[in-house]
This record gives sequence, C-alpha cells and structure tokens, in this order.
Amino acid sequence: MRRELTLKKSVEFEGKGLHSGHTSRIILKPAPEGTGLVFISKSGAVNQFIPYSVESVVDTRNNISISNGRALVKTVEHLVSALYALHIDNCIIECFSNEIPILDGSANEFVRKIMEAGRVEQTRNREEFRIINPIWATLDDKYIVALPYNGLKCCYTISFPNSPIGTQTYTNVITSETFIENLASARTFGFLEDLENYQKNGLVLGVSIDNVNVYSRKENKAINSPRYNDEPVRHKMLDLIGSLALLNFDIKGFIIAYKGGHTLDVMFTRKVINIYNGINQLYTERPYRVDASFYIHTGSSDIEKMPS
Ligand SMILES: [Zn+2]
Repeated sequence: MRRELTLKKSVEFEGKGLHSGHTSRIILKPAPEGTGLVFISKSGAVNQFIPYSVESVVDTRNNISISNGRALVKTVEHLVSALYALHIDNCIIECFSNEIPILDGSANEFVRKIMEAGRVEQTRNREEFRIINPIWATLDDKYIVALPYNGLKCCYTISFPNSPIGTQTYTNVITSETFIENLASARTFGFLEDLENYQKNGLVLGVSIDNVNVYSRKENKAINSPRYNDEPVRHKMLDLIGSLALLNFDIKGFIIAYKGGHTLDVMFTRKVINIYNGINQLYTERPYRVDASFYIHTGSSDIEKMPS
C-alpha cells in the first residue's frame, strides 16, 4: 500500500491535436486527495467537469474520447498513461480545446515535465486491487487476461501480418521507473497506405512525420527511424496503461494482452471495476437487506448449493 500523490506545481503543454490538427493547450494542476483525474473543458462559456472514469468514455475507435454530455475531450490516452504510471492519482487537467496535444506521439514530454514539476505525497492511502481469480475480456480473436501477480506486470502481443511490424511480443514489470525507461518514448504508429482513408473520415488531420511512427506496407519498411525495434508493441502497452488509469485504484496482477486496442482495453477495465465494486459491496453490505426485490430474486434458490 502506498499514499496517494499529486503534482507539486502546475505544468503546461501546448501542441497540435492528432485528429483535429488544431493547436491545443492544457494545464495540469495539483488536486486534493480523493479527487482522481478530472478534466475541465474550458473551451465553452461554462467550465465542464469530466472525471476520467469508464462512465465518461464515449469513443474508443481511434483514441479515447471522454465526455460529460456537454463537452468532449479527445486523445487523452497518452497523458493519463503517464499520470497512472507516475502515480499522479489526483490531478485537474484544464483543456482549452477539445483534444490533448499529441506532442511527439509518445508520453515522453508528459513524463519529463511531470517529473520536473515533482510529486507530493498526500495522507490518504491509494486503494489497490489484487487479482486473485483470473479476469478476462475478449473481442473477436483478441483477448486480455489478468492473473495473480505481486506487482503489475504486462505481456503484450501484436500481430500485423504482411507488414514490416509483423508479430511482436513485449513483457515488462510496470513501475514508474520502467515506464520512463521502456515505454514512455514509444510513439503511436500507423501505415502510410491508410492515411488517405483516415483523413477522408476527418481523422489524423494533425499527423506528421514528427508525431507518428510511420510504416509502409507496400515498401515493407519503417519511414522514420524507430526508437526501439519493437516500438509498436511498447506503444500498445502504453495505451493499455492509459485505460488502466480509468480504474482510479492500483491494480496488482499479470496482464496478458493479445491484439488489444482501446476498445478491448476499456472493456477489460470495465470488467475489473465491476468485479472490484462487487467484492467491495460483498464485504460492506449489511447482512439483512431492506429492499424486498432482493428476497424475490433469491427466495427460490438454495444459497448453500450455489457455486462459490
Ligand atoms: Zn496511443
């Protein structure tokens, strides 16, 4: 168990949004314990508060977008990945447009400036959840499964046949230090041949050779120089950690992901939250329920014979 942390002072970032192509600015501010990660959209007449929670996630197709129904913030995943890995549990993120700057396509600059600003320990203990029984989520041929482990470890496999990426597997014990060392610099990636189609659909309008790790299927090569020879799979692990940040508690387990992505990552996180909430409810519930509907549903079944 550790204490919750926040930033020592505010940090500011400015840059292009990957999808909108517009310049965007954000300010990260220290927040009291128990706050969690809360985005404040300041682009309208009234400030809109969007807590980073599964209930706020509205789109996972090409990025993680969150909304409170009145304001939307896109492409939050790399920022929240850095915050989760660096244990910045409580933070206000003021957004002056509807997208988080993509910067160099990785979490590098987020990590650098957060570490420069410094972290402060608060008095409250950070909640944690240890995986005791396996938890999994599947989508088509993709899966994510979590097994017991004393720490947080991740093994990720991606498969892009007939491309220079091919199949890559990467395993990492995730701590703040290993995140900085092995994951933070891994950039988002894409194929040159898909660019036109994306842009026709109003996506990746801010893309450039400086913010994406580009590959060509046709030429079977990387266009810009990769930072690691398995940079794509490392980036997918970085993205997965961005979804784990939705938990709002630490998770202890060995997470094995095969061909994950934002949609499956969030499905998995949602499942972990449901199980965590169920367990908490089990131990805090009063022994006798006052709502009659509980007895109607359980009245006919023999609890003793139910599988545990
Ligand atoms: Zn990403």
